[in-house]
Amino acid sequence: MEINGKKLLAGLFWEEIGEVVKECGEKPFRAKQLQQAVNKGWEPGEMHYLPGSLRARLAEDYITSGVSIQNFYVSALDGTEKYLYSLYDGNLIEGVMMRYKYGSTLCVSTQVGCRMGCSFCASTLEGCVRNLAAGEMLGQVLAANKRLSEQKPEDRVHNIVLMGSGEPLDNYEEVIRFLRLVNQKEGLNISERNISLSTCGIVPKMYALAEEGLPVTLCVSLHAPNDDIRRQIMPIAKAYSIKEIIKACRHYIRKTGRRVIFEYALVDNVNCSTDNAVELASLLRGMQCHVNVIPLNSVKERNLNTPAEATTNRFIEALKNEHISVTRRREMGDDIQGACGQLRRSHIEEEQHK
Ligand code: SAH
Repeated sequence: MEINGKKLLAGLFWEEIGEVVKECGEKPFRAKQLQQAVNKGWEPGEMHYLPGSLRARLAEDYITSGVSIQNFYVSALDGTEKYLYSLYDGNLIEGVMMRYKYGSTLCVSTQVGCRMGCSFCASTLEGCVRNLAAGEMLGQVLAANKRLSEQKPEDRVHNIVLMGSGEPLDNYEEVIRFLRLVNQKEGLNISERNISLSTCGIVPKMYALAEEGLPVTLCVSLHAPNDDIRRQIMPIAKAYSIKEIIKACRHYIRKTGRRVIFEYALVDNVNCSTDNAVELASLLRGMQCHVNVIPLNSVKERNLNTPAEATTNRFIEALKNEHISVTRRREMGDDIQGACGQLRRSHIEEEQHK
């Protein structure tokens, strides 16, 4: 995939980097140097240890990723950082870095916008502008690594969650390429076990993912205990039923040996009664899974609200009583518009009002 007529070095596998070096008429040892420069997130013009002639040749056809952090916001509450990245074609995407005791987790976007249309989500308000290239997904990690290492030299991203804007399984080929790239030993060498992919439940692609030999943690945005409720808030529910989703999850668990995580955003008066919890439990009984409950991050454009604290607690207790493994997702970065799509959107709005 090219961006404004340029190919992406960050989107190439190690063997392909070797071919580029060869095509440029350079000795094979330059491949390792080029790969190292790409791993540092340097653009061709910055690759000072490569000969000037090679830098110039590369700059004609290639960019590394074109992704750079244009603005960042640091949460005073928990140190979570929110990034507004700019892309080579001027589009904007966002990402969140969460700091945990066991390392930093970066939330990566897979599309500019999203076309899934979930009623509570800010990423989808203006539809999908375009897919991101694999090299741009990697570019987000490279840019975040640069930012981390400025603060602490050896620090870097340890875990990746594909939970930024976009539906990963709606950009399947590039997402799979990204998962393989980030895992390369010549590259960032991040294990699949440290990667989670979240989907709204595009069933055929869930089956396809199970065949890729990439045992990433599959997260499914369920958000409802039955199809009636799900259809009210997620248009994708008209295409695939919960029954089909659960069947695909069971297949994924069998194939990969990994448990599936169900995400469940609590929307006041829509999906958070104790009856809803009991119905959810009956769907998941006996399954190797975990439920992540997220009190809705209210989005001002949507008339959907976060339930009261007591409602949230009652819902979680009801699941526990049914012996379902459940945790409440820590709400991080609440002061910096941590929820999907909120930052890009407020930036675009500000620009429009200038
Ligand atoms: N398209 C993928 C990836 C997005 S992941 C998916 O649907 O899973 C982001 C997660 O945050 C999803 O579970 C999404 O449903 C949820 N989400 C989106 N907007 C939210 C909001 N306002 N409050 C709480 N969770 C939200």
